[in-house]
Amino acid sequence: DVVIETPQPTPDIPATSIKVSSRDRLIFPESTVTKGDLADYYAAVSGIMLPWVARRPISLVRCPQGRGRKCFFQKHDAGSFGDHVHQVPITEKDGSTENYLWVDDADGLVACVQMGTIEFHGWGSSVDHLEKPDRLVFDLDPDEGLDFEDTKKAAEHLKNQLAELGLTSFPMLSGGKGVHVVVPLTPQAEWPAVKSFADRFARAMAQAEPDRFVATMSKAKRKGRIFIDWLRNQRGATAIMPYAARARAGAPVAAPVSWTELREIKTAANWSVSATSELIERASSRALAGWGVADQVLPDL
Ligand code: ATP
Ligand code: MN
Ligand code: MN
Repeated sequence: DVVIETPQPTPDIPATSIKVSSRDRLIFPESTVTKGDLADYYAAVSGIMLPWVARRPISLVRCPQGRGRKCFFQKHDAGSFGDHVHQVPITEKDGSTENYLWVDDADGLVACVQMGTIEFHGWGSSVDHLEKPDRLVFDLDPDEGLDFEDTKKAAEHLKNQLAELGLTSFPMLSGGKGVHVVVPLTPQAEWPAVKSFADRFARAMAQAEPDRFVATMSKAKRKGRIFIDWLRNQRGATAIMPYAARARAGAPVAAPVSWTELREIKTAANWSVSATSELIERASSRALAGWGVADQVLPDL
C-alpha cells in the first residue's frame, strides 16, 4: 500500500527574496539564536511589525559578529543595504543632509538582518510627513534597584495623567528594563510643539512627585527614581520599534501589551524571538485589539 503522508504545517513565514549569509552564525550565543533564526523571526513578524515600522526613518543596532561583540548604532547609509532598504534625505540641525533609512516590507527588514542588524529603532514620524510626528513615546527608565512593579505603576500613572488631558496611550515592554508609554497622534503639530508638550508633561509629573520621578537626564538625580525620558520626542530621536529584538541576553523583544495585561506581567523582557507564534497570535487577540491606534491631537497646555 502507498502511504500518503499528511504535509506538516509549517509556520507561515512570508517569502523573502533576500539571501541571508552565514545563517548558522550565533548572534545570541547564550540562547543559541543564529543569524538565520533572527532573519526568520523578522520575516515571520513582518506582518505585525511593519504597521509600526514601515515608512519611518530607522536607526539600527548592528552587531555583525553577534551581540557579545562590537555593536554600533547606525543612522545613515549611502546604499550598502541594497534595493529593499530605501533612503530619505534629511537636513539636520547643522544644515548638512544625510540619507536616513526606511523599509516597507519583509525584504527590507531581512536585508537589515543580513547586514548584521539586531535592533530596529524608529522616528516618531513617517517619511510622508517627517515634520509632523504621529507618535509620542514616554520611555520610563527605572533607576537600578527599583523593581518592575514600580515601573508598571509609573506607566499606569502616566496613562491616567494623559487620559486627563484627553489622550489615549498604550504600553509597550521595551524588551530591556522599562516600559514605553506610546501616544498615537494624528500628524498635525510639528516637532517643536510636540517636544515642548513632552517636556512640560514630564516635568509636571516630576514636580508633582519628586521622590518618584525625574525628568532630567542627570544620573545623579535618578537615585531610586524613574526617569521619564521624554527626549525620544524630538526631531531625529528614535525609540525601539514594536516587535524589534534587543541585543541583550536571551534575545528579548519589544512587545505591545494591554494595560490589563501589564498588571500581571513580571518583566520588560517577557517575550523573546523564540516566541514567534505566540507574538503573532497575541497581535490579533482581543487584548491587543486597537493597540496603538487613536485619532487625537495634543491639547493646548
Ligand atoms: P530599556 O527599557 O532597557 O531602557 P530602551 O529601549 O528604552 O530599553 P534606553 O537606553 O532607555 O533603551 O533608550 C535608548 C534610546 O536611545 C533608544 O530608544 C534608542 O533609539 C536611542 N539610542 C540608543 N543608542 C543610541 C546611540 N548610540 N545614539 C543615539 N541614540 C541611541
Ligand atoms: Mn528606556
Ligand atoms: Mn531612555
